[in-house]
Amino acid sequence: MNLTKYTRRNTIEVTIGTTKIGGQNPIAVQSMTNTATADVAASVAQIERIADAGAPIVRLTAQGRKEGEAFAQIIPQLRAEGYPTAIVADIHFVPQIASIAADYVDKVRINPGNYRTDNGELEALLEKCKKRGVALRIGVNHGSLAQHIVDSYGDTPQGMVASAMEFLRRCRAADFDQVVVSMKSSNTRVMVHAYRLLVQAMDAEDMHYPIHLGVTEAGNGIEGRIKSAVGIGALMADGIGDTIRVSLTEAPENEVIVANLLIDHFSSCTGEFSVTHPERYFATKFVRRSNITTPIVHSEITDLFRVIDSNTYNPTAEWRAAILNLDNQTEGVVIRRKYTDTDYTTLAVKAAADMGPLLLDGLADGIWIDAPQFTERQIEQIELQILQASRVRISHTEYIACPSCGRTLYDIEGTLAQIKARTSHLKGLKIGVMGCIVNGPGEMADADYGYVGAAAGKITLYKGREVVCRNIPQEQALDRLIEIIKENGDWTEADSTN
Ligand code: SF4
Repeated sequence: MNLTKYTRRNTIEVTIGTTKIGGQNPIAVQSMTNTATADVAASVAQIERIADAGAPIVRLTAQGRKEGEAFAQIIPQLRAEGYPTAIVADIHFVPQIASIAADYVDKVRINPGNYRTDNGELEALLEKCKKRGVALRIGVNHGSLAQHIVDSYGDTPQGMVASAMEFLRRCRAADFDQVVVSMKSSNTRVMVHAYRLLVQAMDAEDMHYPIHLGVTEAGNGIEGRIKSAVGIGALMADGIGDTIRVSLTEAPENEVIVANLLIDHFSSCTGEFSVTHPERYFATKFVRRSNITTPIVHSEITDLFRVIDSNTYNPTAEWRAAILNLDNQTEGVVIRRKYTDTDYTTLAVKAAADMGPLLLDGLADGIWIDAPQFTERQIEQIELQILQASRVRISHTEYIACPSCGRTLYDIEGTLAQIKARTSHLKGLKIGVMGCIVNGPGEMADADYGYVGAAAGKITLYKGREVVCRNIPQEQALDRLIEIIKENGDWTEADSTN
């Protein structure tokens, strides 16, 4: 990582159908369908909407043979309708489906957590991919690491890296280089540290595979956008990332708009800043620099704090250099920047991408968004959400909600809105809202409570990692969730004066 200026990491080029990523290619946006993959008409229509929104790569889940075979119809239909969109099959749990999908798609995503390491399944897949020119993504998820990795490393960033490196070495041994890697987590700090560690590990072994960036289960609305911008922005500011997916519990087209906004934002990243004390910077672990324990929003500023402005096109590097160069390494620092954007969401995404990295690294103690075109309350809401997304100050209920995919059997967007309406006053509580029972429980990470789709019309409720209500009708599930929160002493009544 270059601390003084923005430099995009050198990677090899990987071809995904008509799209190339890595090398000198622009960062490519991608999204994922949430239709049933086997519903060919619905899937084709949604891929086309995502492509029209500006994504050259679209992923579809392939959980079984029926979905794997559906690509045989989806792809010719897309091409016949004039869409060259690169199509990716997302495989979990059933490695044989990867082999079926590889007959049709441009890229296959596998989760190393679901693969055995001793039966040659990966090598057989690589052979097939090589013959057809299919790319591969090794998609490590914090919530679904293989047991042997968890036994050795726990569910840590180091474990995520070990999982990826194990598969990358096998790709190299098989002389297969059309590989992309991702290290996703819903915890931005874990995710950013895991990607940075991965880059270090790959560099140490002279590997230069492109990186796919994403924060999983970011939720929806401003909160989901800010969380994604903090995690993805921190890595883009480091020059890491060749393709990005912003995961939102919304229509997939909405993800594309946010991803393109981030790419556009970093396209003008320039400026060079000298860092006299690089040894003070810990890129892969959280170390709070100052003695301030609770980072602040601008309305809470007192004489104690030093305010550091940035007016350049690389605010993250400029603030980082200024803070690392301070003589007094314990005083509180507030970072401030003026934004002229008139769209609230744009302001939130840009400020989160600029300021989040300083919070994730423990360098800044407060943030100040200077945007008088918005009210004090509007600005404070963004500032608090950035602090929360960076995991340095919790002021809201945290929703760990999956974006949904072809495995989802209920209206997750509508359900999330209903759950938020009843629980958004429960400050500090983490509630997982997940589309499917196969991936949901593992992926909702450290949620205090979980609402997980179990079957058509059926929900399973969790307290932490324990099932407390299995397969109950969806109409009863929200009331039951609230009862469980009350039974566990985590309920407070909403303040009716707000
Ligand atoms: S948790 Fe959500 S996004 Fe992940 S596989 Fe299940 S339904 Fe799809």
